[in-house]
Amino acid sequence: MGPGPSDIHPRVLNAIGKGTVGHLDPYYLQTMNNLQEMLRKVFKTENELTMAISATGSAGMETTVVNVIEPGDKMLVCINGVFGMRMADVAERAGAEVLTLERPWGEVFTAEDLQPILDAEKPKVVGIVMAETSTGACQPLEEISKLVHANGGLLLVDAVTSLGGMNVEVDKWGIDVIYSGSQKCLSCPPGLAPISFSPAAVEVLNNRKTKVRSWYLDLSMLSSYWSEDRVYHHTAPINMTYALYEALRVILEEGLDNCFDRHLQNHLALKAGLESLGFQYNADPNHQLPMLNAVKIPAGVDDGTIRGGLLKRFGIEIGGGLGAFKGKVWRIGIMGHAARQNNVLTFLGALEQLLAENNYEFSSGSSIAAANAAYATNA
Ligand SMILES: *Cc1c(COP(=O)(O)O)cnc(C)c1O
Repeated sequence: MGPGPSDIHPRVLNAIGKGTVGHLDPYYLQTMNNLQEMLRKVFKTENELTMAISATGSAGMETTVVNVIEPGDKMLVCINGVFGMRMADVAERAGAEVLTLERPWGEVFTAEDLQPILDAEKPKVVGIVMAETSTGACQPLEEISKLVHANGGLLLVDAVTSLGGMNVEVDKWGIDVIYSGSQKCLSCPPGLAPISFSPAAVEVLNNRKTKVRSWYLDLSMLSSYWSEDRVYHHTAPINMTYALYEALRVILEEGLDNCFDRHLQNHLALKAGLESLGFQYNADPNHQLPMLNAVKIPAGVDDGTIRGGLLKRFGIEIGGGLGAFKGKVWRIGIMGHAARQNNVLTFLGALEQLLAENNYEFSSGSSIAAANAAYATNA
């Protein structure tokens, strides 16, 4: 129940252990095609250029940035947490002229926030994080997308934590470039980064004047392997592909809407439980992520004692704070296969026991009662 990697569905663990075939084996090529088709469904896009990069979510970030940016291009990065900071660093290394816009951690950006800098600078690319895992804030994208396009830019979105846990509409919202990771709400081990590029973004790739600054992540070569040409680039991580294939099948069998609703119901129950104990959420109440519950650690409660006790005595991992939130915030994940009632109720029960031992005052049993009431109301 941390901020990732999440629990893996047993079917996915079973798939990853199947026999390794060659990266040009007809069985594998068919698996790649089916994987692309399922990724398009989960991303809600018709984008031809939709595939998985052979590395974790951060490589998805680097792939998207390094392919659309040429040295000297202006890229605006919206920063309200750790992953926006990482994106600005990646953009700088890719040779972009990086402009940044900042909001306090836990808050989100409005289109009005972006208007002046878009008007003045007309950046080629605007990068933004949809689910900021360091703060628990959920960034709305539709209005910002319209404004970015009105100013002639491409919208680049980090959907590492959101994909598979809440609605992500690539085509409807006009997202040009998007990346995710296998290890958060897709409930697959870390190791693959799904990406998708709109036709407008592909045109930018085709019109590049300089080579992509990364050989491994150069989409002009990678897309030849993922298309009918099947030109060898690097040896694909065959068994990781099996795992992601099965993880996407699990999600699509449940149905995207059911899957999002399961995340939401478990979030509402967890939130009711935590708030009954006096915990406060970190993110703006109108923009809280379902899959990542970031709460402030109350005064007098020791971060290490409680998180250590949860792990050692109950086998439950939750995340500590990142960056500026170290020692101040807990990040409780209910991502993918982990978004289940038994996890929420076991966690709350264990947390109550540890808080009581550490002389934190609350009404015993209140969090379980509040969570159960939430499950009953929303059932
Ligand atoms: C986890 C995460 C990443 C990085 O993914 P890795 O798999 O750790 O490389 C990037 N962005 C966000 C929002 C994340 O939560």
